[in-house]
Amino acid sequence: MMVKGIVFDIQRFSIHDGPGIRTTVFLKGCPLRCLWCHNPESQSFEPEIMHELGFDKIVGKEMSISEVMTEVLKDRAYYERTGGGITLSGGEPMGQFLFTKPLLEEAKSSGLHTCLETAGYGPTHQYEEVAPLVDLFLFDYKVTDAQKHYQLAGRDNALILTNLDRLYTLGASIRLRCPLIPAINDEDTHLQGIAHLLEKYPRIDGPEIMAYHNLGNSKAASLGREPNLPNLDNASQEDKERWISRLQALGCTNARLS
Ligand code: SF4
Repeated sequence: MMVKGIVFDIQRFSIHDGPGIRTTVFLKGCPLRCLWCHNPESQSFEPEIMHELGFDKIVGKEMSISEVMTEVLKDRAYYERTGGGITLSGGEPMGQFLFTKPLLEEAKSSGLHTCLETAGYGPTHQYEEVAPLVDLFLFDYKVTDAQKHYQLAGRDNALILTNLDRLYTLGASIRLRCPLIPAINDEDTHLQGIAHLLEKYPRIDGPEIMAYHNLGNSKAASLGREPNLPNLDNASQEDKERWISRLQALGCTNARLS
């Protein structure tokens, strides 16, 4: 049986999802529900309708691995010149594991550099299975306090930390990506938590800070949903500078904005 996945976007010429010029494949579906999610159309595993500028569009399309690869391989020359490749993102690409794993296998056998962006919430054995197929994990770390993680993202972070530890132990290359949302998850104890993780796992790159922007609000409205954080502005320049300098003071010399 041909394996198919639900893809909601394929973005060519991405430069923020790993090294070099990349094609990012966005897979639909996520087990988390972060209040600040800037891609609310990625959360459901099913295709859905978005109403934008007076038009309805369907978000999410069934695609085979060869259809995705045809699109991705169009830019092979750019990957070779810049050290780029394919990035799987979402949603949570591990949520479509039965599609994600063979897609990574196909990308590797085509000689591509592979990145997997993940929130870390999936069965540990599945992370073990994809580890040899992923050249760089872009691993999200959102909230240090387990209870607060549950309140803000709909699940606690125990499984996420287990998976991070497992990947590290397996020798995976990992970049830690941290969404910071002013007055929501940028408390000093969380910044200390980030620093603590990087001290514990010195081979992890980062942290790469993803500063909050409120693009998700208009997307939520297009889906007929109420935005979760309707009155929150984008992170200011001051916020960003404060986060980076505090993280550096805590020993994260590689702290930077994404
Ligand atoms: S993990 Fe990412 S895609 Fe999933 S809800 Fe959170 S921000 Fe959205």
